[in-house]
Amino acid sequence: MAAKREQAILKCTECGNENYHTTRNKKTHPTKMEILKFCPHCRKKTLHKEKK
Ligand SMILES: [Zn+2]
Repeated sequence: MAAKREQAILKCTECGNENYHTTRNKKTHPTKMEILKFCPHCRKKTLHKEKK
């Protein structure tokens, strides 16, 4: 079995670009992440959601 850390991909909710790859600890972040981050495609801060 692999480590408990899960790969999470943060996807821009406006253009659908997958801009950020991160790892997530299920214990500290049991829910899906939603973060305001800069999207180079939209060239502004947009809401990024974790892709499953
Ligand atoms: Zn975008």
